[in-house]
Amino acid sequence: MGRRRGARHRSPRRPADRARLLLRIVDDIRAKVPRDFPLSIRLSVTDYEPDGIPIEETVELCRRLEAHGVDVLHCSGGHHAGMEWEVSPWYQVRTPHRWGWEKIKDAVSIPVIASGSIVSPETAEEILASGSADFVSLGRPLLADPDWARKAKAGRVLEITPCIRCNDGCLHRGLNKGRSVGCSVNPSVAEEGRFPVTAAGESRRIAVIGGGPAGLHAAAVLHDRGHDVTLYEPGELGGLLNHAQGSTVKQDLAALARHLIHEVSRRDVRVVARAADAQTIAEGGFDAAVVATGAPDESPRFPIEGRLPVRTAAQVRVTDAPRGRVVIVGGGFQGCEVALRVSAAAATGEATTVTIVESNDGLLAGEEVFTDAERLPLFLDAAGVSVRCGHTVVGIDDEGVRVETAGGVETVPADAVVLALGRRRADSALADELEAAGVDVRVIGSAREPGRVFDAIHTAFFTARSL
Ligand code: SF4
Repeated sequence: MGRRRGARHRSPRRPADRARLLLRIVDDIRAKVPRDFPLSIRLSVTDYEPDGIPIEETVELCRRLEAHGVDVLHCSGGHHAGMEWEVSPWYQVRTPHRWGWEKIKDAVSIPVIASGSIVSPETAEEILASGSADFVSLGRPLLADPDWARKAKAGRVLEITPCIRCNDGCLHRGLNKGRSVGCSVNPSVAEEGRFPVTAAGESRRIAVIGGGPAGLHAAAVLHDRGHDVTLYEPGELGGLLNHAQGSTVKQDLAALARHLIHEVSRRDVRVVARAADAQTIAEGGFDAAVVATGAPDESPRFPIEGRLPVRTAAQVRVTDAPRGRVVIVGGGFQGCEVALRVSAAAATGEATTVTIVESNDGLLAGEEVFTDAERLPLFLDAAGVSVRCGHTVVGIDDEGVRVETAGGVETVPADAVVLALGRRRADSALADELEAAGVDVRVIGSAREPGRVFDAIHTAFFTARSL
């Protein structure tokens, strides 16, 4: 009786079998190139699947690759169907594959290249100095700043535009839509020749109103074009990027805030710590104004009574994150990420439970980055965040958040509430007033349309190029 069709596929996995094709390819290449031609293999330390490839199998494979003449092992992780490891997002830990490449390095004598979310020179230096790996490799950080290595070597670390691991410009709006790769923080990536920052025909006095990411970036580019720039910001420079300060969740945004602030501070840009209105602009004798005042939070459409602490998602900082039974109102991206930040902040503190209530039937119902829509719920699950969809909030009182469901009205008990209702369109009063006064006025970032970092930086860059 012959062997059943498919029997080979059902037999237990044997590393020797799985490696055969790869080793034959390696042997063939090795036979065709001189021995001093360096041969590198990139491979995942594991696919991170429950029944996937264990690290022991990868280590054994690496030993065999070395024996077959491979010169260097380039270690990544994950696979295309699980992109939270392959292109780890900002709510994933940095250098997630370190544990794996270190096991491989211990087992072989050829060099090991580390990869995966090595976004800062400090991290790269620590990996090399500690002997964790022999080389580091960069992917997305080079889209964010092609001069990453040159600036790092020169010690100009804060001048590096950091990759924020948003996967928005490169994957979501780029490759996933069949377009060329883009980048949220580098509008001219891959098109540097098309969008150079050149000197303006005439130097003008320009006021930038608002010191969030859009205003900061516009101010730096306008300065580089030869304009005389004054930036007005009554609060904290960095705007909404600052909510991630000190957190391991979206720490990359805090790095971007530090970079953008540095880029303004090292230029001859006047920063004025107060708000500007039409009178300010008129009295200052400005030729043009760039409005970058952001978008206000959406207002709750339900009564808030009693003394329960209620704050917005942007007001949650790691140093004073709410504790106890925390209820997040809203399950869009803002609600999901603040739930992770509160959970991360509570990990070392007192017992905290986090619950998201959302009126839609599922989380992330808006236009989300596709990798977030697919994988963010898994991170919430891993963090122990409870999710109640189909719960429409009808009020907040001393007991908690009152919600209406198909079964009636009930209360989700809470010690603290975070409103994550998104942002609404800003009114155009300031821009209208400036325009009526004859000022050349432009509106950028979320003041034009609530958006993500991509929109803030891109509208700032292209507006500054046009002035
Ligand atoms: S789009 Fe975002 S993730 Fe992609 S390279 Fe740019 S900053 Fe990094």
